[in-house]
Amino acid sequence: MDKYIESVYESVKEKDPLQKEFHQAALEVLESLEPAIKKFPKYKEHKILERIVEPERIVQFRVPWKDRNGEIQVNRGYRVQFNSAIGPYKGGFRFHHTVYLGLLKFLGFEQTFKNSLTTLPMGGGKGGSDFDPHGKTDGEVENFCHSFMSEMYRHLGQFTDVPAGDIGVGAREIGYMYAAYRKIMNLHGTCVFTGKGWGWGGSLIRPEATGYGATYFAQEMLKTINENLKGKKVAISGSGNVAQYAIRKNMQLGADVVTMSDSDGCVYMPNGITKEQWNYVMELKNVRRGRISEFAEQYNLEYVKDGKPWVYDVDLAMPCATQNELNGEDAKKLIDNNVIAVSEGANMPCTPEAVTAFQQEGVLFAPGKAANAGGVSTSGLEMAQNSQRYFWNREEVDDKLHSIMVNIHQNAYDTAKQFGEPGNYVLGANIAGFMKVADAMIAQGYFA
Ligand code: NAP
Repeated sequence: MDKYIESVYESVKEKDPLQKEFHQAALEVLESLEPAIKKFPKYKEHKILERIVEPERIVQFRVPWKDRNGEIQVNRGYRVQFNSAIGPYKGGFRFHHTVYLGLLKFLGFEQTFKNSLTTLPMGGGKGGSDFDPHGKTDGEVENFCHSFMSEMYRHLGQFTDVPAGDIGVGAREIGYMYAAYRKIMNLHGTCVFTGKGWGWGGSLIRPEATGYGATYFAQEMLKTINENLKGKKVAISGSGNVAQYAIRKNMQLGADVVTMSDSDGCVYMPNGITKEQWNYVMELKNVRRGRISEFAEQYNLEYVKDGKPWVYDVDLAMPCATQNELNGEDAKKLIDNNVIAVSEGANMPCTPEAVTAFQQEGVLFAPGKAANAGGVSTSGLEMAQNSQRYFWNREEVDDKLHSIMVNIHQNAYDTAKQFGEPGNYVLGANIAGFMKVADAMIAQGYFA
């Protein structure tokens, strides 16, 4: 690694030695920026790397709430406002017991480059809490959301910071949080949240956007080798928002989705999931909030407790659950089974060892910051519609999403080629996303 880049990375580790996910994300980006840093000395002169790894602002606060027995519980709330050089901070809230500052810094850092790739004017941010909605009643989730927003509201605004959902934050949580925001602020109609429900400011296709987008990206990668999704076998992990709509789009494009999972285990469907089974999963996960084992039981399918989807013979793998869920050994199994492409629906689901293995073996590999950018892109479209006091129909939004994903693919593809590593989407996406933010920071001076 270049000495200058290495010194920036060493200082990231030294300052916050326990934030291992942030170190991982920073290393992955910094390493791949080397050709751009060498070609354009202005980035070093303006100390862009030193500035870009440091969030502009971090907010941390106490969230007291009452459980079903009237007992007081206390969680932590956070917002990491990473970079606003190209637009207001934008990025979801995650509610999960594993949430801590290092995790949100990794996600906010990634979000900065992802949002830049979308071509829309959005900066990067991420937030959330170590509160976990699993096993909580609706009333407990509502209590928590209100308490969380009683502090968070003051840090948000349509021109300041616009959150959305992520793990553990879906339509229900956004509804509760948005209600608290507009009660406190006595206003409605400004786009301070995206992922709102249809009928109260939400955009059609926003729930579908991340999964659809990651599938569109896979389709574009396959086109570069004169292939398509028709008849392909696809392994998908997770069964939440991203997985649900990645499955749906793959089905629509003629692929057979053979796996799905949750944090307890994996289900295998050798002939591909059917429309009826997909409808069952939608109700199971979004209404009853049940486990994927119940789906396997209902349809008499193979279920492996603590199993992973990466052991099966598939053409395309789409990790859509969480970070570091596909490691070097999993990658080797997929490669041994002749996988052609991997498209990351989740953020950083593949470990560095897995990414290296895919790239060395010539597997088409799409990093999350490019492949899963469809969600935040459609959030950008929701902001645009709210500003117009108007909405677009499904076809209009889906067409815009599709063309954004095609552009992101082309941009990452062309940038990789331009910097001497054709086919390296990690390098292409990182450099393309970085240069737009870095150039904006230079144009705005050292204060930016
Ligand atoms: P979600 O609806 O909460 O679903 C998450 C899924 O992943 C669930 O099936 C969950 O299973 C599983 N999961 C979570 N932690 C896990 C773990 N440690 N091991 C195995 N499985 C685990 O969340 P989502 O919105 O689909 O987000 C999934 C990923 O996509 C995240 O990395 C998120 O950052 C990324 N992403 C989301 C969006 C978006 O628009 N939603 C946009 C861009 C990127 P359990 O129910 O058992 O926990």
